[in-house]
Amino acid sequence: MTDLPVHLKAPEDEAGKQVASVRGSAHKASTANDPGSYAGNSAVLATMHGKEGAISAVLFDRLGLIVDTVPNLDTDVLGTFTGEVPRTGTIRETVIAKARLGMAASKRSIGIASEGSYGPHPHIPFVAGGIELMVLVDDSREIIVTEHLIEDTPIFDHAFAYPNDELGAFLDRIEFPDHALIVKAAEPSLAAGPVYKGLRDKEALASAIIDCAAHSPDGRALVQTDMRAHMNPTRMATIRRLAAVFAERVATPCPACAMPGYGLVDVETGLPCEACGAPSIMVRHQVFGCVSCEHRERRPRLDGHSHADPGHCPECNP
Ligand SMILES: [Zn+2]
Ligand SMILES: [Zn+2]
Repeated sequence: MTDLPVHLKAPEDEAGKQVASVRGSAHKASTANDPGSYAGNSAVLATMHGKEGAISAVLFDRLGLIVDTVPNLDTDVLGTFTGEVPRTGTIRETVIAKARLGMAASKRSIGIASEGSYGPHPHIPFVAGGIELMVLVDDSREIIVTEHLIEDTPIFDHAFAYPNDELGAFLDRIEFPDHALIVKAAEPSLAAGPVYKGLRDKEALASAIIDCAAHSPDGRALVQTDMRAHMNPTRMATIRRLAAVFAERVATPCPACAMPGYGLVDVETGLPCEACGAPSIMVRHQVFGCVSCEHRERRPRLDGHSHADPGHCPECNP
């Protein structure tokens, strides 16, 4: 069910590379007098799942950016959580493509989109985790600004069920019916079986399990959380928190060229070992950078640690 592996660093790494490839050309005239300000600009948010409720007001309040949506946009062509349309490309490529769908449909030069990926937690075994990525694609300023957030406690789970199985503990854990469910055959045969989405009713859930289990060679149905934002209020709240972090980033101008979106683009490892001084695998610097010019700046770790525990040292603890 997991659509994409959860990669902690991938979006920022990708950001650095992708941005480098669009640099070098002179900037087009920006839509505002101050290139660092989005006040009074308008943008289109590409969503089919009601994300405007979590994003638009946050961006308007912080940036003065007017964000609205396009009706009848089909972002499912880029892949779905339920897997009917497989996702190709990285989460960053997908979210940029989604923003561009909205821009093309509305003939706007500024687009916003968000994309999530849920699966095994990147650091904690046997625990689910998620990453949410948000993007602003601005063809008038020729910039792409991304920001992400790791969700440590998503409501993302699944269970296998025979017809009439007692699912009480599972349903409590995933906070059903606030959080909706998807049901399909546990072992789909070559001919795809039925898929029920957005289930928030116990009777509908029970009959979906009966139908899907009958289509599965092992007689079981797969019951999983519906991760679409409007079906998973925990995910919607995560997107709202990301919108606030993202707005701060867009509001931060580059100290060299004043373009919006200045922030963390990379980390450098090699924090010296406190026993032997050799470079460890721990983060030594955060690298802040501009999405438009070459400006880069190293900053020390936020926690102030200047040396690493020898346990993270390849010399002391090979
Ligand atoms: Zn050492
Ligand atoms: Zn700059």
